[in-house]
Amino acid sequence: MKIRSCHIKFAFFAVAIGFIFTFVSCAIHQKSSANTKSPLYVFFFIGDGMASAQIHATEAYLAATAEDEAKAEGIKVSRLTMSGLPVLGMQTSNANNRFITGSAAAGTALACGEKTNIGVIAMRPDTTTPSTSLAEAAKAKGMKVGIVTSVSLDHATPAVFYAHTESRKNYEKIGEFLLKSNFDYFAGGGFRVDKYKSDAYAGLTNEERYTVVASRAKANGFTYTDTRTEFDALSEKQGHVIAIHPTLDVYDAIPYALNRRTGDTAGKTDENFITLAEFTQKGIDLMEKSDNGFFMMVEGGKIDWACHANDARTAIEEIIAFDEAVGVAVDFAKEHPERTLIVVTGDHECGGLALGFAGMGYETDFEKLSAQTIAYDDFFSQPLSAYKKRNTPAPDDINADMWQIIFENYKMDGHRITATKEDDLTEYEIELLEDAFDKSITGTNKNAEEKNALLYGRNDPLTVTLTHLLNRKSGLSWTSFSHTAMPVPVFAMGYRSELFDGYYDNTEVARKMAEVMNVSVGRIGKP
Ligand SMILES: [Zn+2]
Repeated sequence: MKIRSCHIKFAFFAVAIGFIFTFVSCAIHQKSSANTKSPLYVFFFIGDGMASAQIHATEAYLAATAEDEAKAEGIKVSRLTMSGLPVLGMQTSNANNRFITGSAAAGTALACGEKTNIGVIAMRPDTTTPSTSLAEAAKAKGMKVGIVTSVSLDHATPAVFYAHTESRKNYEKIGEFLLKSNFDYFAGGGFRVDKYKSDAYAGLTNEERYTVVASRAKANGFTYTDTRTEFDALSEKQGHVIAIHPTLDVYDAIPYALNRRTGDTAGKTDENFITLAEFTQKGIDLMEKSDNGFFMMVEGGKIDWACHANDARTAIEEIIAFDEAVGVAVDFAKEHPERTLIVVTGDHECGGLALGFAGMGYETDFEKLSAQTIAYDDFFSQPLSAYKKRNTPAPDDINADMWQIIFENYKMDGHRITATKEDDLTEYEIELLEDAFDKSITGTNKNAEEKNALLYGRNDPLTVTLTHLLNRKSGLSWTSFSHTAMPVPVFAMGYRSELFDGYYDNTEVARKMAEVMNVSVGRIGKP
């Protein structure tokens, strides 16, 4: 009996131990597989100057220019990838010291979760206290970090993720922060070396300055590329990477998608182009093997510039390029559905774009935009500039040569170039163009007059009048040459994306992302 009782007790004890062991190990296993061990992949897409109007104009344009099948069915909207993400929120964008924000203050809010003043890069309004960004917090946690943009790498929006300085204009200082950041991947535009003021760059041409930057990047442990071949050859073996687009515009940004597609000038051949989507894919290829995952910010930076210029077609092509980059992340998320978060938003609206124009009433004709084959900057620097050179002294009125240029680039006819009435300009429209032509040719538009400021902003009078007319004929109109305070949509999908539902301040975007990533942003410990 004694022996037997002992056996029973032992058996009971063994079962209990086994049960406890199983329970504990099961709990540990559950915890590790759900959260702590598997890597987290975070994509943060920022369309600079992009709000609902820009997104929806693009969707209307895509539907209007789609192949016959879609048009025949009366489809008026063709969804972008970003607007198809399952979670939708809306953010307000005001800065600390101004209702209508700018990219530095809005970027600081989106990157660090804190309000600051116009022009300040990731610091509090006092400009002495730095704010920690999502990218820095991710790096400190052991994640890999990528910063991708279509504008220069030292521009306000990318800068708020790695630099801390009182002014976005401190390009050289921002560049220093970049080189010392220890981030894994910088890609897209170049550096504003024309603004570098220190002795190391004195007396050098911009090209020579780039050589100095490249050698300093290498000294700081970066692989530095600025050709298509080098870019294609990049692999995770390289370690830290700075990949600059082979061709850059005068502001060291990637040339406009519209110019790249139709451009025929030297160095602008297709094989030299690297799209925002390709830069995003390369970031994934270089960082995906990280044990702790990655954080990648991708900015469509020139949507804003095209909107400042009131050039809808150019902005739309930038949005399409940006949306294709979002598509790359969505494809990646399908392979890693449990641990990928994608957030897409804008930093503010730009241009006060409206879908509708007084002169069109209830009508729209977005297909008209497809007539434009060149962005405002290349129109100004190429056909318009060439025209000015061969027409000296300048004619008093628009001559046949200029009417031909206008027709070729915008399909607007002020000179009976075609027999059809469809593309004819009205007398009033011709009057607007003649006025703008005078000011463009004689260089009299310096915003001195209120009328000029309202008609053209800081743009070339003729160029902006041409895009205004074409945009209005399509049913789009602009109310400003600056940013506006329109709330901006936030699209999200993936891991804990439901947090982004609702209507909130732009600082909340960074705070929500920080919560998902389990990091702290802003002025840590001192709210
Ligand atoms: Zn802007």
